[in-house]
Amino acid sequence: MELYNSLIKETRELVDRLPAKVWDYDPAAVWPCNSSSELVLQKDAAFELGASGKGSANFVLFTSNEALGGRDQVVLCGRDLREIKGDCDFARLVLLRIGVLEDEDEAVYRTLRDIEFAKYHVYPQGYMVRISPESYREQVRVSREAVRRGINFRALGMNYIRAYKQDPNVISATVIFLTDPAADYAALRAMAKKSADVTGTLTHIFEGLPTDCSVCALKDICDEVEGMKELHFGVGAKGADHRH
Ligand code: SF4
Repeated sequence: MELYNSLIKETRELVDRLPAKVWDYDPAAVWPCNSSSELVLQKDAAFELGASGKGSANFVLFTSNEALGGRDQVVLCGRDLREIKGDCDFARLVLLRIGVLEDEDEAVYRTLRDIEFAKYHVYPQGYMVRISPESYREQVRVSREAVRRGINFRALGMNYIRAYKQDPNVISATVIFLTDPAADYAALRAMAKKSADVTGTLTHIFEGLPTDCSVCALKDICDEVEGMKELHFGVGAKGADHRH
């Protein structure tokens, strides 16, 4: 699964330009979670991350390349939650190294969807997440009570890594939080869109879209993303005719 590799390189370049704190995965360090999403009322909120009018981006990228996949780590570029005094920019980016996906077939795609779904199953106490898939943003309302109890990105990152690693196909997960106002959130959102385009194209491919690039609305994406056409022709070859 190398379709997302150029986006992973871009993400790493962007993050490497910023000062960062890095922590290795420690499952004992997770923040307490609820079994479902907690409502944090505005009157109880300390601040919002990625609130409207602020920078915000969210995406997950997949690779089976060991060099790109990284380790089980939490990375923070910018201020931690205890240092934030008001609404601020926010991005949460996830790089997942996955195994058992060497033969690019429908199981690959289903695994990606299952893994992406894990992001909706993390409900930290006092941390209300609203994801907006159409705009590639993630907005979080953090309660004053959680800040008082010491909520922090290191612990939250551990929660996400634990959730991703529940899927046996995930070898390692790197969770990157950005609150640094120097980060290019518009560029990150553009990358989130590209990532969603790749995943969306995979959906079409596995739904049996005909392999005729000359009339296909997804041609721009497939021209840009290395490996996409090969994937479709491989899948298509199992079925009907295919024209380049
Ligand atoms: S490989 Fe061709 S037919 Fe298949 S999704 Fe891409 S552009 Fe469309």
